[in-house]
Amino acid sequence: MLFNGVDFDTYFKNYPNAEGYFGKYGGAYVSEELKRAMEEITDAYFTICKSRKFIDELRRIRKEFQGRPTPVTHLERLSARLGNVQLYAKREDLNHTGAHKLNHCMGEALLAKYMGKKKLIAETGAGQHGVAIATAAAYFGLECDVYMGSVDIAKQAPNVARMKILGANVVEVKHGLATLKEAVDAAFDAYAKDYRNSIYCIGSVVGPHPFPMMVRDFQSIVGIEAREQFVEMTGELPDAVVACVGGGSNSAGFFAGFLNYPVDIYGVEPFGTGKALGQHAASLVYGEEGVMHGFNSLMLKDANGEPAPVYSVASGLDYPSSGPEHAFLHDLGRVKYDGVTDDETIDAFFTLSRLEGIIPAIESSHAVAYGMKLAREMKTGSVLINLSGRGDKDMDYILEKYGIR
Ligand SMILES: *Cc1c(COP(=O)(O)O)cnc(C)c1O
Repeated sequence: MLFNGVDFDTYFKNYPNAEGYFGKYGGAYVSEELKRAMEEITDAYFTICKSRKFIDELRRIRKEFQGRPTPVTHLERLSARLGNVQLYAKREDLNHTGAHKLNHCMGEALLAKYMGKKKLIAETGAGQHGVAIATAAAYFGLECDVYMGSVDIAKQAPNVARMKILGANVVEVKHGLATLKEAVDAAFDAYAKDYRNSIYCIGSVVGPHPFPMMVRDFQSIVGIEAREQFVEMTGELPDAVVACVGGGSNSAGFFAGFLNYPVDIYGVEPFGTGKALGQHAASLVYGEEGVMHGFNSLMLKDANGEPAPVYSVASGLDYPSSGPEHAFLHDLGRVKYDGVTDDETIDAFFTLSRLEGIIPAIESSHAVAYGMKLAREMKTGSVLINLSGRGDKDMDYILEKYGIR
């Protein structure tokens, strides 16, 4: 399929290119030392991860440990409430540990094992990525250092407990604002010092090449499964697919299954509480080109050109940039990026819980809210929503802040 000059039949061969670029976005803006480490991972990825043995082992782990394939569910009562459009959900909330993140963590950890590495190094904000990487480390018998800001450690006690129970070492980062950005910097520093013995496992389709490509490829199982399951259930493709975009991993993997098919694709960003800088985290809708954390993409900048403060009710979407592939698909127009507010998100959280018996993660509730909007506008057809995770982690916070709606 040709779209604005890009041939999607050969898309995954050509994007990213050998230097890690999706058009002008991507690359590897890192020190010489880290560049060597990135090249080592890239080479290992193209040899080891394409081998029959690796593919077979990952397939077995997905089936026997993660519980894949996760199902697609027809949201019948929600559809009836909204009109004629039929809504469906891909159930990553039923993936082991309750979200999609384990898909790429198991892939990265398996690669680490094949490369003979002893340790996984990662950063975490809300702790979701930390829990997934700690789970993968336990499974493969690897050491695990998770860098986390003091502020986040205090806020996310249950996830800190989970990581410790799983045997991970939670390294407190105290400098600066002591949140995600400082944790990323500290984790990269630790990795630069110890890359021969360890591998860095990034939390999304961000960071220097090869991470945006590698994480997308490991997550693409979500989109491939979803497309096949949907066609088997209904005999046709969905008219539209929807996923929430923070760093962009669940959406990149989900979209990968549909880019070369005649399906409308929507990425949903957090519009938070308003349009002013600091009230949202919509880096694709409102951002401009810039480099941070080792890659070029669209980002939200302050008056000095530095990453701007961002806000979202969903801590997993609270990042001032998104993966370079999203910036590319945004400019190309193949994916339409839009957003929903906190308020619309909370409504969707309760509506899906009440009508379908599924409590979605607050991140995923953004995709549900947008899917509901589309259903009202479209009148006929079908919408497939990627439910990236379950909402157990968010229940106390939502009841405290919003009460029962
Ligand atoms: C972390 C997280 C996200 C956001 O990350 P992406 O890389 O944009 O997918 C979305 N949903 C859930 C459930 C998460 O845990």
